[in-house]
Amino acid sequence: MNNSIYRFPLPTNEPILSYLAGSNERKALFAEIERLKGLQHEVPCIIGGKEYFTGNTTDILMPHDHQNPLGKYHNVGEKELDLAVEAAMKAHREWSEMPYTVRAAILNKVADLISGKYRALMSAATMLGQSKNIFQSEIDAVCETIDFLRFNAHFASKVYEFQPFSGPGMMNSMEYRALEGFVFTVSPFNFTAIASNLNNSPVLMGNVTIWKPASTAILSNYYLMKIFQEAGVPDGVINFIPGKGSMIGRRIMKDTNLAGVHFTGSNNTFNTLWKQVGENLSSYKSYPRLVGETGGKDFIFVHPSADAQEVAVAAVRGSFEYQGQKCSAASRMYVPKSLWPKVKDLMLAMLAEIKMGDVMDPQNFVNAVIDKPAFDTIMEYINYAKASTEATIVAGGNGDSSVGYFIEPTIIETTNPKFKTMEEEIFGPVLSVWVYADNQLEEAIHLCDTTSPYALTGAVFGRDRAAVEKLTKQLRYAAGNFYINDKPTGAVVGQQPFGGSRASGTNDKAGGELNLIRWASARTIKETFNTPVDYRYGYML
Ligand code: NAD
Repeated sequence: MNNSIYRFPLPTNEPILSYLAGSNERKALFAEIERLKGLQHEVPCIIGGKEYFTGNTTDILMPHDHQNPLGKYHNVGEKELDLAVEAAMKAHREWSEMPYTVRAAILNKVADLISGKYRALMSAATMLGQSKNIFQSEIDAVCETIDFLRFNAHFASKVYEFQPFSGPGMMNSMEYRALEGFVFTVSPFNFTAIASNLNNSPVLMGNVTIWKPASTAILSNYYLMKIFQEAGVPDGVINFIPGKGSMIGRRIMKDTNLAGVHFTGSNNTFNTLWKQVGENLSSYKSYPRLVGETGGKDFIFVHPSADAQEVAVAAVRGSFEYQGQKCSAASRMYVPKSLWPKVKDLMLAMLAEIKMGDVMDPQNFVNAVIDKPAFDTIMEYINYAKASTEATIVAGGNGDSSVGYFIEPTIIETTNPKFKTMEEEIFGPVLSVWVYADNQLEEAIHLCDTTSPYALTGAVFGRDRAAVEKLTKQLRYAAGNFYINDKPTGAVVGQQPFGGSRASGTNDKAGGELNLIRWASARTIKETFNTPVDYRYGYML
């Protein structure tokens, strides 16, 4: 038996490759894109390590070229859902008893495979299936995915290390057991890294998962599943079940062995899952752990002392990269009247240069939004603003879905700080701006704090350090990830643990001990060396 005490040291973040013209990584990536485009994929369900082709299929589309499917995926059926629960529970015992160093070694191997052999594959699949450009794909499907895997191993060492002290004559310890059952992992379309981490963190802590990937991220998620398998994740530890969310949710959420839900996505879906837990509470073996990261209405608050150029760059990058489909994307901005003309002109100049189109052209800063329902919803918000007397479209405002789901980066200036687009999550390339009078600062801060139900990310800009300090205090609960003089997107694993509160989720900070601890159920063990043999206490004698 291996009795070494091994601690995974703090890793460094995966370097972001530059993909400059003529570079080897760029050649490899483009070759991989062409290869994937030439395949007609048949993506199965993978349950207990076995592939299931149910025959009930849905096309896998490219959002920027929706007439040329990349193949199909097979939707899970009721029968396969039963098999998934069975396979997960069968794998539970051995996996949960496996030394965590072995589990972490397997997951570190996943990271190494993505860093090397499958770097181009993971990026290409994410670019094609989720319409990310080279850079957006590299920071997500490659770097963040790897970082979650490697940093979690390190943070798990710290979780396991946390032990109670022992008084004289005894030894106390805590055993971090896996949850008694399976974890239902439900992932969103917008980050391959999140899909990976929703599984990787419970699995590292000895749990087994039933994974429902987003229907619009099937290609990258399928290859990720294959890499988990190749790295040595045993059959049944992760079960991949593409299909219709509501049908899958109904069956899985009522299972007596449901021990946890690890979710990222919209509020509506998380609320549904939470209610289902309530409805089925009496049938569970244990209270399921509910960890969910949900929507955002992320802000940039500009103090009159801010630098206009810095604000404009942060607003353009923070609002329009990946078409504004990051949960952290800036979608409302509060700007003082004294700065707005300059910030606006600078942003308009940048937007005039920005190109939109297919992911294959590296010149395109903006690509397509994920699917038709997203396109329609975003355009509805833009058209609502166009029709309103309280709003002006300062930039963009047009969409075209004939080839791909393209929407121009759009800036809405509104005279109403509670305008619908200042309050509701749009999840597209739309930034709403409210311009406040410089002497209305306090009111503007209050509005920023109270206008939306969310509290995910937020940024403040200002050169006056005392004013920034005051803003940081006043907006204390407005964001779980708070930025000073930086855009509110781009959290890096290990550096800015991620998650928001209020309606933005349970704030269990993905990529750190706070998240990992949710997937462990501690057993406290006390061993006494001098076991009493007389029931009477001394004072009684
Ligand atoms: P979504 O809620 O539509 O889908 C998320 C997942 O839930 C998908 O796999 C979907 O198929 C599944 N699903 C839907 N209904 C279900 C049901 N009844 N039962 C079980 N599963 C069901 O979200 P999305 O469109 O994929 O992602 C966008 C949302 O995710 C935005 O609101 C965004 O803010 C949020 N998001 C949040 C974070 C964060 O860290 N806070 C990160 C990324 C995305």
